[in-house]
Amino acid sequence: MSSAPTTAAGPVTRSAELFSRAEAVVPGGVNSPVRAFRSVGGTPRFMSSAQGPWLTDADGNRYVDLVSSWGPMILGHAHPAVVDAVREAAGHGLSFGTPTEGEIALAEEIVRRVEPVEQVRLVNSGTEATMSAIRLARGYTGRSVVVKFAGCYHGHVDALLAEAGSGVATFGLPSTPGVTGAQATDTIVLPYNDLDAVAAAFAERGPDIACVITEAAAGNMGAVAPDDGFNAGLKRLCAAHGALLVIDEVMTGFRVSAAGWYGLEGVAGDLYCFGKVMSGGLPAAAFGGSAEIMSHLAPAGPVYQAGTLAGNPVAVAAGLTTLQHATPEVYGALDDAADQLHRLITDALGGAGVEHAMQRAGSLISIRFAAEPGRDYDDMKAAQTWRFPPFFHALLDRGVYFPPSVFESCFISAALDDEAFSVIADALPHAARAAAAASAPEEQ
Ligand SMILES: *Cc1c(COP(=O)(O)O)cnc(C)c1O
Repeated sequence: MSSAPTTAAGPVTRSAELFSRAEAVVPGGVNSPVRAFRSVGGTPRFMSSAQGPWLTDADGNRYVDLVSSWGPMILGHAHPAVVDAVREAAGHGLSFGTPTEGEIALAEEIVRRVEPVEQVRLVNSGTEATMSAIRLARGYTGRSVVVKFAGCYHGHVDALLAEAGSGVATFGLPSTPGVTGAQATDTIVLPYNDLDAVAAAFAERGPDIACVITEAAAGNMGAVAPDDGFNAGLKRLCAAHGALLVIDEVMTGFRVSAAGWYGLEGVAGDLYCFGKVMSGGLPAAAFGGSAEIMSHLAPAGPVYQAGTLAGNPVAVAAGLTTLQHATPEVYGALDDAADQLHRLITDALGGAGVEHAMQRAGSLISIRFAAEPGRDYDDMKAAQTWRFPPFFHALLDRGVYFPPSVFESCFISAALDDEAFSVIADALPHAARAAAAASAPEEQ
């Protein structure tokens, strides 16, 4: 980009108009809750275009993007090779309802990267991936109970919304109406990073437990890495009790390394869920595991799962091309960018005297406004979260689009360049001072 960087965003009149128009016909004005800015206040920005690390809103304001569509845009926006692949695929027809060659290539790319995965089934969203993986785990084991961890978000699957992170954390919902008692009864919610609690659950209900589902590294309550040995301990307990370990890499997969969190840690799960990066920005996701377990899916086996648009050729082209361009150099650039962002944030907050700890899980980053990093959801909620909204808005006003909730992680892209980082570096001291000046809400 050769144009001058936007260091201060202008009016947001058009976004405000669009938001009130949206509120009339779309619940809350948005199609996914965290987009609505409820936890930070203010006018959600309606974006009209994006290029590389930049987003441009409906009023023509430009922002450095630290959300990357909540993960998918790892190469930056409108990457020429991905856009070309999508155009090419679209020109050949949008959907056939038959198998296509591209689906095999995408499955092969995933299988090549993640060693424990021998077969994958493509679906349309991360939610579908976790929902289907759980059905398969139940069908395979003949058991009903699912163990999940508080603060882990696995999409809006009924059985998995109990004490979930992401939007559920942002809005402080204990659970949600519309999920039946039976579904909640079949879900055991335990504290993250607490192997003793998992061992106790198996001791009590072992023969009923179909699977333990966990984020490979938690990213939806802020970034909370698993303690050393936590995932390996889950694997050991599951194996000892005949349950499956379902590792949700929808957020971490193909982002924190070429093989996701598995590539950093090497603990093999029984089933994996993928989405976000492997979609390239169109609706695509996947679940997979050993050929033996996956052979229980229809039409090879009895567990039913299907999708009219599953493996859609245009989405597959976006995902495959994104993975093909996610080279070792890209992962190196992401790690460097994460380190740089981490340093800039902590220097700015430290300079303004704001007590904080940086939460890291590979290249995922979030801030905890407390002295020590958090290890579980209770920790993450017990922080000075009220410092976040003014911090967020000071960044936004200076052209940095940070995730609009303290419980979400920053998603960086390999397109963040020196110009983008100089906008971030200029904005952060203002944001840190705004966080320092924030005052705690009155006790109720
Ligand atoms: C985003 C996310 C999901 C849900 O994916 P959708 O495509 O939004 O349905 C599931 N699991 C994790 C860990 C996620 O971050």
